[in-house]
Amino acid sequence: MKYALITGASRGIGRAAGIKLANDGFFVLINYRSNKKEALETLRLIQQNGGKAELMPFDISNQEETETELDKWFEKNPEKYIEVLVNNAGIRKDNLHVFMQNSEWQDVINTNLNSFFYITRRLIKDMLINKNGRIINIVSLSGLRGIPGQVNYSAAKAGIIGATKALAKEIARKKVTVNAIAPGFIKTDMTKELNEKELKRLIPMRRFGTAQEVAELISFLASKKSSYITGEVISINGGI
Ligand code: NAP
Repeated sequence: MKYALITGASRGIGRAAGIKLANDGFFVLINYRSNKKEALETLRLIQQNGGKAELMPFDISNQEETETELDKWFEKNPEKYIEVLVNNAGIRKDNLHVFMQNSEWQDVINTNLNSFFYITRRLIKDMLINKNGRIINIVSLSGLRGIPGQVNYSAAKAGIIGATKALAKEIARKKVTVNAIAPGFIKTDMTKELNEKELKRLIPMRRFGTAQEVAELISFLASKKSSYITGEVISINGGI
């Protein structure tokens, strides 16, 4: 079976991507931080459709824990490799820069940016050996445009956009592609406290997107159909 690791697959975009990739025939490794109840629900939804998956909890903002848990999986599965990595898990800790606390900066950078470095470095080794792999980074409109109140989040997402472009060029010859998806406003827990009625007016399509719509794009980038696309940032935002 082909393996796909999705970080933050207990809820939102990660869950929808898990269900979709399992449907596409991947064995899905469901990463999450602490919400086991929701991660088990993702597992149940995948298995209900006849798909295969397992839970892989670890805190992606913690380098040691991340590397230990990934090593454990590789020790248990010596013949296997993970050919699709969706760097999806992310958090927001919004504040005006002048008031931003060290912890708000560090938590967002560690979770949204530094995790990309550690997880991807471990997984690309096998992708390069096998000359096959897909790395899909979920970034944000905030990293492309900059959003006030999100200096930490915009910096982290813009950092991954730069890394996506550089890494894509480094490993293109080995048939491993690296792309980013930049969602606008998507209906998930992350956006539930936003004023949707007000914000909808900024969106030409006049609605928030769904996690399912983002999952369709993840599925395409994870598939053979996207084999000549690398180093791209694809927006999915209803025309903003
Ligand atoms: P969400 O519904 O809030 O879900 C976040 C997921 O990330 C959960 O599965 C959570 O696990 C996991 N997570 C958070 N911190 C983690 C950590 N340290 N280690 C492991 N897992 C962690 O978020 P979402 O809206 O689906 O967002 C997914 C991605 O899309 C994020 O990168 C976000 O920045 C990006 N994005 C979202 C939107 C939007 O409008 N929703 C727009 C642009 C970009 P637990 O359940 O265990 O907490």
